Amino acid sequence: MAPTVFTPDRPALVRRLRAAGCVFAEDEAELLIAAADSAEALTHLVDRRVAGLPLEHLLGWAEFCGRRVVVHPGVFVPRGRTALLVDAAVAVAGPAPAALDLCCGSGAAALVLHDRLAPRWLAAADVDPVAVACARSNLDPLGVPVYQGDLFEPVPPVWRGRLDLVVANAPYVPSGAVATMPPEARLYEAPVALDGGVDGLAVLRRVAVGAVEWLAPGGHLAVEVSAGQVEVLCGVMTDAGLVPTVVRDDDLEATVVTARRPG
Ligand code: GLN
Repeated sequence: MAPTVFTPDRPALVRRLRAAGCVFAEDEAELLIAAADSAEALTHLVDRRVAGLPLEHLLGWAEFCGRRVVVHPGVFVPRGRTALLVDAAVAVAGPAPAALDLCCGSGAAALVLHDRLAPRWLAAADVDPVAVACARSNLDPLGVPVYQGDLFEPVPPVWRGRLDLVVANAPYVPSGAVATMPPEARLYEAPVALDGGVDGLAVLRRVAVGAVEWLAPGGHLAVEVSAGQVEVLCGVMTDAGLVPTVVRDDDLEATVVTARRPG
């Protein structure tokens, strides 16, 4: 990071950020100051933040499960709540699993799974080429491949029926609710990362059906969803031949469903 060679007016900066609705104005001010190498650069960053760009897109990274994840403009910003998805996936995974992060976005989940699982094979995939490029910048250094394509379609066929773990933070916002999301998501994240169709479960239905085919017997799917969608999703998973379990964390406001392929 560039050294700060100028003296920013911290109180004025905090006031400006607060007036623009930034709840953690002090923290954001420090992060933006650290990211700027001149007063002009800082002003440019703050102007864009005040105009509504997500902090993470301006910084170029987000913190996720204690790690720095590179986040390119337009890419879904990893959410704090998705720590539950990673925890739940780690809890159900056996030793040295073959694991896949579907709908990987920035690749944040795969990045953490790489450290916490010691997988014998790990890959990520996303339909959005912008997300794939971002995920590659996070995962290339770890030797984790990132495939571009629709769900399981780009995954090497040798892994069909042999995966121990499939993790997916698929889009699950009902189409009609995308308009009510905060502008940072609605305007600056790819709609394909948010919009889950009429009831929000269009992609997760296809993930469940695909998982039955791609998981090894005894393997697990782990997905994030909203609390109100759990009942329908569990029905979908059961119909697909999986055995679902719901995991909830009220502090994180997070809901995860893990689903085991019997056998
Ligand atoms: N409600 C979720 C969020 O903004 C949407 C995430 C998703 O669709 N995967 O955190």
